[in-house]
Amino acid sequence: MLPVITLIGRPNVGKSTLFNRLTRTRDALVADFPGLTRDRQYGIGRVGPGPYIIVDTGGIGTAAEGVEALMERQVQRAIEEADHLLFLVDAKDGATPEDIEIVQRLRRLGKPIALVVNKSDTTDPNLAVADFHGLGLGDPWAISASQGLGVNKLIEHVFGQLPIDTDETADDDQGIRVALVGRPNAGKSTMINRLLGEERLVTFDSPGTTRDSIFIPFERLGRRYTLIDTAGLRRRARVQDAIEKFSVIKTLQAIEESNVVILVIDAHEGVGEQDATLAGHIIESGRALVVAINKWDGLQPDEREHVREQFSRKLAFLDFAKLHLVSALHGSGVGLLLDEVDKAYANATRNLATPELTRLLESAVQEHQPPLVRGRRIKLRYAHQGGRNPPIIVIHGNQTEDVPETYRRYLINRFRKALNLLGTPLRLEFKSGS
Ligand code: GDP
Ligand code: GDP
Repeated sequence: MLPVITLIGRPNVGKSTLFNRLTRTRDALVADFPGLTRDRQYGIGRVGPGPYIIVDTGGIGTAAEGVEALMERQVQRAIEEADHLLFLVDAKDGATPEDIEIVQRLRRLGKPIALVVNKSDTTDPNLAVADFHGLGLGDPWAISASQGLGVNKLIEHVFGQLPIDTDETADDDQGIRVALVGRPNAGKSTMINRLLGEERLVTFDSPGTTRDSIFIPFERLGRRYTLIDTAGLRRRARVQDAIEKFSVIKTLQAIEESNVVILVIDAHEGVGEQDATLAGHIIESGRALVVAINKWDGLQPDEREHVREQFSRKLAFLDFAKLHLVSALHGSGVGLLLDEVDKAYANATRNLATPELTRLLESAVQEHQPPLVRGRRIKLRYAHQGGRNPPIIVIHGNQTEDVPETYRRYLINRFRKALNLLGTPLRLEFKSGS
């Protein structure tokens, strides 16, 4: 499981600047998938030894709420779910009374903490750091989030403090790892029960933790799978239980651990903000995807139409995934999901031959030339595969840095159609010269 690093501190100390820096490597994705919005609170950190989950708790101790806000449930929960806390302070401000109060509260939680003096570019770093020794959190780490100074070293230090996960058994025995994700009450548990059959349910009726998913191996038609259950397989008395157990961190972990994600959407509720946020995380992970629109039973034709329309409008960037209309409760369509999982995984890991990719590129360019930029036409010459899972197609040419977004979309669609690459995101990389 990915370690969870959580940012805490007063407003304006630079938490979101640091968050953006740690997650920035994937910014290109926003351009690749129009309509995608990024979750500003949870992200995958890829700067420093990684990956890891990075959580921004927002402003603790705002004037309006007082430091009491620290104890607010959400922040409290984020802290509970953390492996390591980064407590940010502002070099310019020195240690403020609010900082001191937050430290007192944090210390009681018994979590590993690093004291991070941000904006150290604004003052003499030695002076900046000296003032914060008094907080009693050990040697402060001077960084500049906006300029990237000291950030790598900080994350290296944090990784050094984490318990080493020796359980690196990414064995093939597990088969395809399938994560079922979706907002609370979308029907994930019901669906897992369907997929496994009732007997397995009893065996795996474990309480689960707030943070960790349950891994359930099973076999179907001689193939092995491992279901990654984020819902906590159990019969729940109250809807409230489901909401309590929902954890973005758990969901992110499950996505990262998976080969294929099944996103479960509740047709009765329609496509909501939480679905869009989850979709964004899935895109960011690059995982293969199958979408299950659940609770399709009992819907009137016009309601069904409405859900479809909502999906293609609000989650337009998931157009590469196949949509499945299912009823976990009645079992209709659920069996087919695993066939789709197989296909999505096969597509995500397919080998694409250079001559075929180059031929496809040539015919796409012939049909629709890239535009002129500053009087010169962009030239795209040949293509080859640059990675799998998700597939990456590398295109070589001249002036490729000027390829407009619309043309990139055009090429992606051409490749996707011609190669029949359903169920997996597809990435293009352009290289200039030669
Ligand atoms: P948050 O409220 O803790 O999330 O703080 P923000 O990330 O929004 O940053 C608050 C302000 O501090 C912004 O104007 C940032 O540009 C600025 N800032 C953040 N990090 C640094 C830094 O390392 N150096 C300097 N000089 N300014 C910074
Ligand atoms: P989870 O929180 O995503 O695990 O959701 P659950 O599996 O616990 O389901 C939440 C509620 O939705 C329960 O009351 C289920 O009986 C109900 N439910 C699940 N699937 C379906 C379905 O296909 N149709 C209908 N009508 N209800 C469903």
